[in-house]
Amino acid sequence: MDEGRPASNPMSNTWTVARSASTRQHVEWVFDDGLPKLKFQDLVLKSSSRRKILYSIRNRLRQDRALVLLSKPHQGKVMEVVAQSPASSHFYYNGEYTRFSDWRFIFKARAGLLPLNGAPWKEGDKGCRRCSKADLETLAHVLNHCEGRSRCWQLRHDGIQNRVVHTAQHSAAQILSINKQVPGTNLRPDIIMKIDDVIHIIDITCPFENRIDGFEKAKHDRYAPLLEQFASQASRVEINPILVGAIGAWDPANDKFLLKIASRNYLKKMQKLCISDNIRWARDIYVEHVTGRRQFDEAEILRNPNFRPCEPVLDDPLDVPQCSTSATAMPV
Ligand SMILES: [Zn+2]
Repeated sequence: MDEGRPASNPMSNTWTVARSASTRQHVEWVFDDGLPKLKFQDLVLKSSSRRKILYSIRNRLRQDRALVLLSKPHQGKVMEVVAQSPASSHFYYNGEYTRFSDWRFIFKARAGLLPLNGAPWKEGDKGCRRCSKADLETLAHVLNHCEGRSRCWQLRHDGIQNRVVHTAQHSAAQILSINKQVPGTNLRPDIIMKIDDVIHIIDITCPFENRIDGFEKAKHDRYAPLLEQFASQASRVEINPILVGAIGAWDPANDKFLLKIASRNYLKKMQKLCISDNIRWARDIYVEHVTGRRQFDEAEILRNPNFRPCEPVLDDPLDVPQCSTSATAMPV
């Protein structure tokens, strides 16, 4: 029982340690008819539930932290969409498919703490540093609207599209077209495929998730005229939007269609890959915006759509060395 005992007090024992631990955690001891009870906020833990004491206190602290996070005006906005699917936070515990540079970026991005000109605490010119179209340089503008980043958006979109095509190729689906203009219209759906006499028109988008409303609005029906066009070729025609947020929020509504071409197990993996792809793009677009230097090798990505740029060791404005001797980023 020596563990945790204050070294400065030679008279300490289990009770003195318990008392100082209770004071630290604001836990109160109450005796009712000689029987001890612990009081923590409005929780009362009797001796019969002694095995649950640590769980109960830890769980309450976790709930309190979540409430504080959601009550912050900006965090609440992004977390509302991120919380729609546990996949959006898949890398929190193990860093799977996530570079160190992405790790340094994503939490600040989701919490609205990146030092862009439009940040609430920034003084002076709030406008975009790269274009004249935005009076407020926000992350949504940088990732989805700023001029000069359109090539990145295209590659980001194509990355998700390639994953869907690859998955469909290993299923019973028959792919009818990929990014081809439908004759007689000016519409160019991402993918058209046929599964069991049903034609699916797939529309992939990477909106900047800020509110569930924004996510819902991205499910526009610009392909509605095609429903009639294909009606004679199948028993039914469906438009299936697939939304993967620009900072890695997964829309749970994607799953219904994707389960037609993927097993439940592979879908879980696919969600993680798509989310991490978009987080990588978000980081690379943000750093390119701030530094003016492209963060990826386009030729390499075109050669192999699954190519993942390795850990950047230079030009990471978010890499703040913890001490002067370890300034180099570690490879993945
Ligand atoms: Zn701009």
